[in-house]
Amino acid sequence: MNLPTQADASLSIGRLLKESQSVLIVAHLRPDGDAIGSIVGMGLALQAGGKKIQMVLKDPIPARYRFLTGTELIQHAPKEAYDLSRALDCGDLPRLGEFFNERKPDINIDHHITNDNFAKVNLVIPQEVATSAILAKYLPEWGFPLDGDSASALCMGLLTDTNGFRIPTVSPDTLELAAQLMRQGAPLPEIYLRSLSSQSLQTSKLWGLSLTKLQMEKGLLWTSITNEDRELAGYNGRDDAEITNFLTSVEGCKVAVLFNEQSAEKVKVSWRSRNHIDVAKLAQHYKGGGHPNAAGAEITQTLKDAEQEILRTTQQYIAGEKNFENGS
Ligand code: AMP
Ligand code: MN
Ligand code: MN
Repeated sequence: MNLPTQADASLSIGRLLKESQSVLIVAHLRPDGDAIGSIVGMGLALQAGGKKIQMVLKDPIPARYRFLTGTELIQHAPKEAYDLSRALDCGDLPRLGEFFNERKPDINIDHHITNDNFAKVNLVIPQEVATSAILAKYLPEWGFPLDGDSASALCMGLLTDTNGFRIPTVSPDTLELAAQLMRQGAPLPEIYLRSLSSQSLQTSKLWGLSLTKLQMEKGLLWTSITNEDRELAGYNGRDDAEITNFLTSVEGCKVAVLFNEQSAEKVKVSWRSRNHIDVAKLAQHYKGGGHPNAAGAEITQTLKDAEQEILRTTQQYIAGEKNFENGS
C-alpha cells in the first residue's frame, strides 16, 4: 500500500471539514506563539465559514500573546460534543494533554519532523517553518479564506516560530507568506512588537536572575530557571519567558541549553543550535522532540542531576563523540 501524500491528506481534510458542523481544535501543552496562532487562525476562519468551534488549550496563554483577537475564545477543556477534532503544532498525543484518551484526533496538522502521525489524517510538513504557515496556505484551499483577525493570528505563529525571521530555514517563501498575510490585514510590525519584543517587568527580572547564571564551555552555553527565580521575580508562568531563544545570540555559542525547573523531580530542558547541529536527535534520546535547531524534553530528575547528565551528553554530541542514529 502506498503511503498517503500531502495532497491526499489535504483533500481528505477539505472533505472532512465540509461534512462537519462542530469542530474541536487543540494544540500542545505549554502553548507557544505558533500553537496559539494556529488555533486562533484556524478557529476564526472556520467560524467565519459557519462552523461551530471549540478552541482548547489545557495550559494558560502566556501574557505576551493575549493581545491577539480571538485568544479570549480559548477554553481550558472541551465543553460540548463535537463531530471533528484536530490537533495543531503537536508532534505526539501526550503533548496534547488528556483530551484524546478515548478517541484519537481526526486530523493532525504539524511541522515537527518528529511527528508520529497519531491521527486518522495527518498533514505533516517538516519543511514548513510553522504550523501557522501550513494553515495560511491550506485554509483558503479548503474553502475558508482569511480575514484580518485570522491572518493576524497566523502571522503571529509565523513570526514567533521563526524567532522574528531569524532561524536558518527561513526562505523567500516565508517572507512572501508574511507579505500575503499583511495584505490580508495582519499588522506585522505591531504583532512583532507585542509578541516578540515587549515584556513585563516580572519577565525582565526573571531574565536578569537567569542570565547572571550563564556559563559557556567549548561552544555549549547554558543556564537555568529555578522555582526560586520565578518566585523572586514574581513571574507566574512555568514557561521559559523566551530566554532560550535569546541564548543563541550570544557570540561563540554553538548549542544553548536551558534547564527549566518544574518541580523537585521534573525539569524541562530546551536546546537551541545556531548552525547545523541537529538538537532534535538529542531531545528524542530523552523522549522529547522538536526541530533540528530547536527541541525540548522533560526529564524526571532533580535540576542538579539533569544538568550534569544533559551537559555531559550534549558536549559529547557536539564533539561528535556520540550520535543517536542507532539508539546509542
Ligand atoms: P521548547 O524547548 O519548549 O521551546 O521547544 C522547542 C521545540 O521542541 C518546539 O517546537 C516544541 O514543540 C518541541 N518540543 C519541546 N518539548 C517537547 C517534548 N517534550 N516533546 C516533543 N516536542 C517537544
Ligand atoms: Mn509549538
Ligand atoms: Mn510550531
